[in-house]
Amino acid sequence: MGDRAGRRGRGPIARLVVAALVAAGCMAGGVDQGEPQRPAPPRSGQPESQTTRADGTTSVAEFQRDIQDAVRLAEQYWAQQFRASGQRFTPIRRVVPYSREGEVTCAGQGLPRNNAVYCSAGDFIAYDVNWSVAAFRQIGDAFLFYLLGHEYAHGVQVRLGGRYDFTIQQELQADCMAGAYLGDSVRSGVLELEDGDLEEFREGLLAVGDDPDQPWFAEGSHGTAEQRSDSFFRGYEKSLGACGLG
Ligand SMILES: [Zn+2]
Repeated sequence: MGDRAGRRGRGPIARLVVAALVAAGCMAGGVDQGEPQRPAPPRSGQPESQTTRADGTTSVAEFQRDIQDAVRLAEQYWAQQFRASGQRFTPIRRVVPYSREGEVTCAGQGLPRNNAVYCSAGDFIAYDVNWSVAAFRQIGDAFLFYLLGHEYAHGVQVRLGGRYDFTIQQELQADCMAGAYLGDSVRSGVLELEDGDLEEFREGLLAVGDDPDQPWFAEGSHGTAEQRSDSFFRGYEKSLGACGLG
């Protein structure tokens, strides 16, 4: 592996192709569009062969589309998993972007900048949009799928009867579940990654994980960057069975 710091500032490293999913209409937990960013145009009615190409561009519009794709893919994935085990799945209620400290609160607590969280009190995901766009540009589009996959996994942990209390075990499990969601989506052909993307993704994550200005990557409650990366790839390669969901 090369010098980590030297990898910073590289362009997006991941290329994802999200196969067109069944049109909207069932997106009960879709992206909250109440923020300044323009929503992507509606995708319903597009032919099935249409693909969304998260092709390394770094525009806010592309970012928005990737966020929507990641949420929709996660919803679909978990709905399928629940159905397969005879359970009903309720999508996470909302995904909310924010740009100022304290703009969004969870259980009365203002959310800090440079972060993304799942708030179990309100059953929503919130993310600092400026921080997320910066990470999107620094690491690549695959990162958004990981980020949303991780936060979505916390919602699933709660749905499975867990109490979400930020333990390292829960954080690493969420990373594993995010990996399983992405790996399974690739295996089922809903999502395509290009060769080498994952390795670059891993290196990119480790590099950003060194950056103290980014709480989402902060060690402590989340585990080290290496632990997180290991959990993610365990899930990615071995699917949910490797995530200790019991
Ligand atoms: Zn987490």
